[in-house]
Amino acid sequence: MEKNKTDVTRCKGCGLCVEECPKQAISFGDHMNVKGYRTIVVDQEACIQCGSCYRVCPDIVFEIL
Ligand code: SF4
Ligand code: SF4
Repeated sequence: MEKNKTDVTRCKGCGLCVEECPKQAISFGDHMNVKGYRTIVVDQEACIQCGSCYRVCPDIVFEIL
């Protein structure tokens, strides 16, 4: 089930969300977006929908469902 929807076209690879996630549910994947940034992936199983990534991301990548 998708809990945390991401729009990685907006991601700039800053890593803030990776550091903030209390469940280590966010990591960098192999995907490069159109801006040339390596983007994040969310482990949907591990996510507890705390919203930390949503609050910390400067580029509005996350949507907690
Ligand atoms: S909502 Fe919380 S648990 Fe889920 S990915 Fe974001 S920071 Fe991690
Ligand atoms: S905080 Fe936002 S812009 Fe930075 S790596 Fe995470 S999703 Fe990408």
